[in-house]
Amino acid sequence: MNARKQRAKLMMETKGHCSQLEPNKFTVRSQTNPENYYTVSKTDNGLICECKDHLCRKADCKHIKIVLEIIKKNKCYRNNTFRIMERTKLKLCKYCDSGKIKKSGTRTTKKGKIQRYACLDCKKRFTANFGFEKMRYDSRTITQALQMYYQGMSVRDIECNFDMLGIDVDHSSIYDWITKYSTMVNNYLNEIVPRTNERVMVRADEIWIKIAGKQNYLFASMDDDTRYWLASDMADTKFQHNADNLLKLTKETIGKNPTRFITDGLPAYMKSSKRIFGKKTIHTRHIHLKGDMNNNKMERLNGEIRDREKVFRGLKKIDTPIIHGMKVYYNFTKKHGALKGKTPAQADMIEVDGRNKWITLIQNSSLYKENSI
Ligand SMILES: [Zn+2]
Ligand SMILES: [Zn+2]
Repeated sequence: MNARKQRAKLMMETKGHCSQLEPNKFTVRSQTNPENYYTVSKTDNGLICECKDHLCRKADCKHIKIVLEIIKKNKCYRNNTFRIMERTKLKLCKYCDSGKIKKSGTRTTKKGKIQRYACLDCKKRFTANFGFEKMRYDSRTITQALQMYYQGMSVRDIECNFDMLGIDVDHSSIYDWITKYSTMVNNYLNEIVPRTNERVMVRADEIWIKIAGKQNYLFASMDDDTRYWLASDMADTKFQHNADNLLKLTKETIGKNPTRFITDGLPAYMKSSKRIFGKKTIHTRHIHLKGDMNNNKMERLNGEIRDREKVFRGLKKIDTPIIHGMKVYYNFTKKHGALKGKTPAQADMIEVDGRNKWITLIQNSSLYKENSI
């Protein structure tokens, strides 16, 4: 890595370094003088920066490189908020992120005509239907099915509802969409470290669920402050299972050890907390009592999952995409009374643009995979 690239990388890792003011404008903080900002604008001729380096050399300066990198990774912070943008609105090449794209005919599909674009830089052509390219149904129908499913409807109920709307789709296709997109979005979101306070309080609990007629436990953890569902691990027994895996996944998600770790009296947590989080994490054990206020926050997540037990009827495998999708649904689409109507993700400073969060997340997930950064 050359020095220029290295500096850009360094800057990129600083929170708040780049903000998006308008759809076509980014500000990048100068590294030599943090008081200075440069504006990078997206024009018909690609990205343009106001710095001397760019004006003289007419080549991509470090600011442009940062913006490109951010667009690629879809990491953009505004007021310290991590924004996941609607990729179709950015009007960038699907393959090389160049802003020099032009309309280039249409493609006729069963769904109708779709606008095609050509990139003047890499010469490739693409449609801006990111994530839904080869699907026989449109993005709205597919994401609506996902949302209905995670709200507790069975795939057959959804099939029936679509039938009333004149949409002919088989329940097995609906199930395929759910597994495909839940996995895809989850893989993408795994790369995002939620903003947690300096001091992070994590709660963990086991949720009893029935899978294919058998009793199972979902070990889950959440951020106490934002109620963001951090990680989960499936087990067929509560008492023999060790919590190491859940704690490892939790640590991976928040990128550090929590300051405090709150659990019920289950012995497994004690040993695991010492092993995975270490001595600095204070482990508090609460014994479950009926009406106990202490675990109320966790109860809410428990309830959320248990109410949707129907959702799990089809589950067969232990590590299932459905659990991942449930997590996306809970963190990103479910508004929370105790969080003043915000979703846990919003409380966690992760903002997803657009009204249909699934669509924005899927757009980004599909590009993320293709760019394989
Ligand atoms: Zn510049
Ligand atoms: Zn291109």
